[in-house]
Parts: sequence; C-alpha cells; structure tokens
Amino acid sequence: MSLQNPVFIPGPTNMPESLRRACDMPTIDHRSDLFKDILHPARDGVKRVLKSATAEVFIFPSTGTGGWETAITNTLSPGDTVLAACNGMFSQKWIDMCQRHGLVVEIVETAWGEGIPADRFEGILTADTGHKIKAVLATHNETATGVRSDIAAVRAAMDAAGHPALLFVDGVSSIGSMPFEFDGWGVDVAVTGSQKGFMLPAGLGIAAFSAKAMEATKTGGLPRTYFDIQDMAKGYAANGYPYTPAVGLLNGLKTASDMLLAEGLDAVFARHTRIATGVRAAVAAWGLDLCAARPALYSDTVSAIRTPEGFDAGRIVAHASTRYGVAFGAGLGQVAGKVFRIGHLGSLTDVMMLSGLATAEMAMVDLGLNIRLGSGVAAAQEVYRSSAGQIALAAE
Ligand SMILES: *Cc1c(COP(=O)(O)O)cnc(C)c1O
Repeated sequence: MSLQNPVFIPGPTNMPESLRRACDMPTIDHRSDLFKDILHPARDGVKRVLKSATAEVFIFPSTGTGGWETAITNTLSPGDTVLAACNGMFSQKWIDMCQRHGLVVEIVETAWGEGIPADRFEGILTADTGHKIKAVLATHNETATGVRSDIAAVRAAMDAAGHPALLFVDGVSSIGSMPFEFDGWGVDVAVTGSQKGFMLPAGLGIAAFSAKAMEATKTGGLPRTYFDIQDMAKGYAANGYPYTPAVGLLNGLKTASDMLLAEGLDAVFARHTRIATGVRAAVAAWGLDLCAARPALYSDTVSAIRTPEGFDAGRIVAHASTRYGVAFGAGLGQVAGKVFRIGHLGSLTDVMMLSGLATAEMAMVDLGLNIRLGSGVAAAQEVYRSSAGQIALAAE
C-alpha cells in the first residue's frame, strides 16, 4: 500500500492535516494546569457529538474494545444476563467478551446482513418478568456486514416490554458519521474509539454513561481496575487522570469534535449519506449485491460487497494493495472471502471516493470479473454531480 493514497477501510480512517497537527504536541506535564484545557473540552465535545445534555464521558488510552469492557465491567455483576443479537463479527466479539467475563448471554442468532430484530427482543424482554436481563447490547453499525440497526426501535421494544434493563450501544463505526441520539434513544452506555468517525489515530476508547448507568456502577460490577470509571471520575474532578493520559490524542479529540460541530452534524451526516449513495450506485452498476439485506439497513459508513459465487473476495483486497497501493477491507468471520468492504467514513470527499471506486474497478477487471471499467465510477459521478456537497473538510 502507498502512503499517498487515501485508505478505504472502515477504520482507521484518513486523518485531516489539522488533526495530525493537533495530536503532535510537545510533552506537557499532565498534572499541570495546561491539561484541564484539553481534558474538559475533549469530554464536552464528545458529549455534543453524542447529542447528550447529561452523559458522563470517560476516555481511556485504549480502543473501542476497551469501551465495550468499560460498559460491562462497571455496571454488571458475575452471573448477570444480557441480551444481544449476533449479526456480524463485531456483535459476536462483544458477546464473546461478555461470556469471558462470566455473564450469561441470551443470544438472538440473526443472519449476517440483517439488523437487530427489535420485535424478537420485545418478545424476550416481555417474557422476562423476573427481570433477569440486566442489559441489552446493540451494535448500531455492524462494520463486518455494512448493516445499520435501528436503535430507536430497540429502545421502543424495551419500553413496550416495560423492561428496566440498561441499553448499551456500540457506536464505534457510527458515532460522528451517522445520526446518533444518546438522549433521544435513551442510551445508557455508548461506546466508540478515536480512529473512525473522529478521524484520529487509534488509541482512545470512549464510553459515555447515562445517569441510570452511573447509578448501576454503585451496586454492580465485575473485577476492573484500569477501566474503573469511579477512579476516572475522581481523576477528572481533580483535572487529571488516575494514570498517564494520552495527551496528544485528547487534544486531537477536542479538535475533531470542534471540526465536526463546525461543519455541522447534519452536514456531516448528509456528506456521509451522499458519498455512500455514490458507492451504492457503483455497486449496482457493477451488477453486484451488498451484504446488507435491504435499503433500510444500508450503512452510510461501510459497504460490504458480495462477489460472485466461487470467487475469493480477498483477492480484490490483496491485489488493490499490492498493485495500486490502495487499502480496502477484507471480509471477516462468516463472510470472509465472500465480501470485500469499502469504508466510506471520516475525512472523505466525493473526489477521493471516486478514486477508490476507480481502483476497485481496476482490481476487479484485472482479476477477470465481468465488470466494465468506468461503469461504477460513472454511476457515482452522476450522484455526486447532482448533489454536490460542501467541501468543508477540504477547506481546512
Ligand atoms: C472497529 C470496531 C470495534 C473495535 O474497535 P477497536 O477500536 O478496534 O477496539 C468495535 N465495534 C465496531 C462496530 C467497530 O467497527
């Protein structure tokens, strides 16, 4: 792969120059006065991106996986039951983490390509009259399949069942790129990382807690030290950390939130929808199908594209990398070899996306797939021409 080309993987995403500069700081003493002017705005920025008035935001030197662990270990106790759908590699890994922590997971097996079945959740929660289920886990955007689930529908199912479980949402590949309503959806813990919608290097795990989730930390809890939010909250109250913070990344996070809010969250989401619509037009022009089962489930941050039966989709990813220096995402788990993924989130313009589609076409033609050069690009060009977006990101 080349250092000059953009990446088209669904994280880590391309970094705008301004964010690279924001992360590149001289060493400061994190116990000095300087740190609070990075720490508190970084936390506040995340809160605004999450559209929450009240969430407590905790930021660990970690990644999204650490955010998952923060959610479960601070609120749940050994032997507690959680409810989760398994519809892709990321939901599967979060379930595996719960099991390794001694939680009982009521797994709703779901086809890869489908979203969270809120109606089945409602049935299970309604039947759970003893309220054994303590938390519902929901992967908002299943990055392995390019499926966006309806979190408002999951909340509605919980409410319809009159069930008091906490709602934990993995927003690692949606937050900052697609609409996310922490307060509006009644989310109790939202999890993300720095390297996707926030356009930063990997290195921060982010978990935002509702008042109800904060309350649960007082009674519940699995063994934890590094991810203990009470220790972290004490640190924050004294303008610091219980250990050494990743100061440069936090400064980057503060700047990233400022950038997203300056562009306007609605404009950011519209840009992602427009770019994704162009990608989907290209996929249709190639005569290929998405892994996502129907339009309501299409993700605006990643498309998983099925290749013809008998063709190893991984070859496209390998060939694009070695021949053209461009990175696409491979298929994961159950869909390994069956799909390749185009990531289209973060710092991306229409024109960058066209270069990715053009590269995918060259790779597929090189490998003998029956695709006409320029067909997908032309389809995307029509989308981008007819809905020209603001070039807010490119202007910085
Ligand atoms: C990337 C991703 C993760 C894992 O995050 P890491 O930062 O790699 O630990 C979890 N969930 C989803 C949906 C993701 O896309």
